[in-house]
This record gives sequence, structure tokens and C-alpha cells, in this order.
Amino acid sequence: MRAVDLIAQKRDGAALSRTELDWLVAGYTAGDIPDYQMAAWAMAVVLRGMDARETADLTLAMARSGVMLDLHDLAPLTVDKHSTGGVGDKTTLLLAPLVAAYGLPVAKMSGRGLGFSGGTIDKLESIPGLRTALTTAEFRAGVQQIGLVVAAQTADLAPADRKLYALRDVTATVESIPLIAASVMSKKLAAGADCIVLDVKYGSGAFMATLDAARELAQAMVAIGQHAGRRVAAVLSSMEQPLGYAIGNALEVREAVAALQGGGPPDLVELCLALGAQLAVLAGRAPDVARARDELAATLARGAAWQTFMAMVAHQGGSLAALADDCAGLPQAPLVVPLPAQQSGYVAAIDARALGLVVNELGGGRRRKEDAIDPAVGLVLAARVGDPIQAGAPLVSIHAATQAAVERVQPALANAFTIQVAPVTPPPLITEIVQ
Ligand code: URA
Repeated sequence: MRAVDLIAQKRDGAALSRTELDWLVAGYTAGDIPDYQMAAWAMAVVLRGMDARETADLTLAMARSGVMLDLHDLAPLTVDKHSTGGVGDKTTLLLAPLVAAYGLPVAKMSGRGLGFSGGTIDKLESIPGLRTALTTAEFRAGVQQIGLVVAAQTADLAPADRKLYALRDVTATVESIPLIAASVMSKKLAAGADCIVLDVKYGSGAFMATLDAARELAQAMVAIGQHAGRRVAAVLSSMEQPLGYAIGNALEVREAVAALQGGGPPDLVELCLALGAQLAVLAGRAPDVARARDELAATLARGAAWQTFMAMVAHQGGSLAALADDCAGLPQAPLVVPLPAQQSGYVAAIDARALGLVVNELGGGRRRKEDAIDPAVGLVLAARVGDPIQAGAPLVSIHAATQAAVERVQPALANAFTIQVAPVTPPPLITEIVQ
């Protein structure tokens, strides 16, 4: 086989066979196929697309480029979730211990934040001492002893995707639904879970700006999972405003802990119950989503998810003392400065992407992969879309390291809020389920 022939085939709109894709991915991972040929092929895919069979074959080839975890000796069935990323998205911190406490073991590999969007690993690492770089033995022990582990993705998981994603990033070939779906699902399939729920977000604070694009991505990912013999469902959820009130690593852990203890923002709890209910039905643990939701709500209410979260924190070396007294031992920013509303009315829109970028500017996120972050900084909203607001009342509080940082972000932050005189109906959080 020659790479040039496969590139030409895709350029002319033909689908590559499974054997051809296996050869291409293996050759690229091994370094036998150079970046320039892989980039040409990726651009041909962007322009010509891939059919469902071809997308699934590409995904499996990328998943098999490294280790394929198999946890069936530890648990007959494990579950996993994936979010396409958003602002204030602390879903894993609540959902994973919730479904684990409900009896569905969670073995999860997560990522770090990049750009305007946060990452679960950065959030967890704001708990003093907590380690996410786990050995295989520690990862397996988490599943076996607690039914819950959340670790940083290891380098041997889907290495073809790691290499290809970096190449796509610099060759304008990220924007392809089949390539995105294959990239996400290759890591999920390699991580070994039997049941996977996908939280596919749309809106200003999401990777997919529109509901239509999010639906198309969700359908492609669900089809791949089913082709690979996994049970998969996707929930389409709004990122037209941040999830919950807190944005920033330690601030989000504090908010998730409040939810685990029975409080927390209603939208966060609602989304986690909806995602968890899909997992419960996929796993055959509940007959329907209504029953699953009630049982999960009862699990949360009796404190079982909080107990499971604490067990995970302890197993991964984190300080439980830091979580006591409303998480008083988590990193805290020296300055907390409110931003007042300029006019009275109703909050009509909050630009989630702009808020994510502000948190980045405060030092809570990364521009480049190697940047260090400040876990303490961020934003806490005082109002959400639909809420009434008085001129002069705080819209949001800025948790910052310095006064200069506060002043730097104030103009962008003020522009991120739209206030209008007429009352506003908040957008729905969950739009549809794709199966
Ligand atoms: N996230 C991924 O993991 N892969 C993509 O291609 C895009 C977003």
C-alpha cells in the first residue's frame, strides 16, 4: 500500500477500507508515514467527509494504536462519561461518585483545560495532595475497592489520536465531525467502559456553537460506540450560559461538594441526574429513565455520593481536611471583587465563552499545554439568565491574585452580560437525547 494512493482515493470522494485505515493509522503512529501525508489525508476528510462505517473503522484503528483497557476481571460492567467541554462544567465531580454510589463502577480518564474550556483533572488537582497520575495498579484498585477512579489520561491510551490531534490543530483540520467523533471515541473505547454517556454541549461556551452541529456530532459518536459493541447514549445540553455559578478550578470543586452534600446549583444537579439516568438504563440497572432518576436522587439525598467522593479523594492521596467547613482548606484567591450591574432589568444573556476566557486571563486556564495554572482564581456568578437585577447589585464576583488582574478583566466581563428591561425566559438545559 502507498499513502499517496489512499490520499488520492479520499480526495476523489471514495471511502477507505478497514484494512487501508488500519495500515494508515499504524504507519502514522510508528512514524513511517510523515506528517505532511497525514495532513493531506486529514484535509481530504474535512472536504469529502467519511461514511459511518469508515468513521467507525478509523476510530477502532486509533483506539487499538495503544493499550485497550479491560476491567472485566474487576467488575462485570463499568461506565464512563464524556463531555465535549464547556465553561463551569464540573459534571464529572458530581456524576461519577453519584453513579458509583448507585452501584455502577466508574473508571474514568479525564483531560486538562485548554483555551476557554476547563478540565476535570485541573479541578481535582486543586484538592491538596490529590494525584491524578496513577499507576495501572492504583487505577485498578480504585475501581475494585471504591467503584470510582478519575485519572489523567495516560500516554499509552490511543497514541494515534494524540499525534493526529496535534497535527490537526496546526493544519486547520479540527473542524470535521467524523474526525472529532473518531478522536473522542477512540479514547473512550480504549478506556474500556461498557456503557458510555456523552454530554454534547452547544452554545457560546461549547465546542459546537449550534444545536444542529451538536446533534450531528452526537449521532456520529453514538453510531461509533454501537458499531464497537458498546452501549452509548448522548444528552444534548445547553452551554448558552455557564453550568452552575462557579468557574475556576477550586471554586468549581467547592460548588460540586455543595451539590454532593445535597445543595448546589439546580442545573448542575439536574444535568447529572439526567446523565446518570441514561447510564443506569444503558447498564440495565433501572427499567426506565424516570425510575433511574428517582433512585439517583435518593442516592444523592442520603449522602452516599458524598461518601464515595471522599473515598476517591482519600484513595488518590487528597486531603479530606481541605474539604471540611465548606472547603475552607482549598486554595483561595487573596482578592474577591464584585462587578456591579450597570442597569436594572433582567439578565438576558451571559456569554459563557467570554467568561471562560476571563478565567484564563486571571490565570485559571492555559493558552498552551505547558502553562501552569492558579487553582484559586475564577468567577462566581451572582445572577443567571432570567434573574432580575438591580443597578449596582453584584453580577459576578472576581476571585483574583492581584488588583491588576481584576482591572484587566473588568471590561470584558462587563461586556459578557446582557441586561434588558423585559422579563426573560431562561433557555432549556437539556434539549434531547440521542441513542
Ligand atoms: N476533542 C477531542 O478529543 N478531539 C477532537 O478532535 C476535538 C475535541
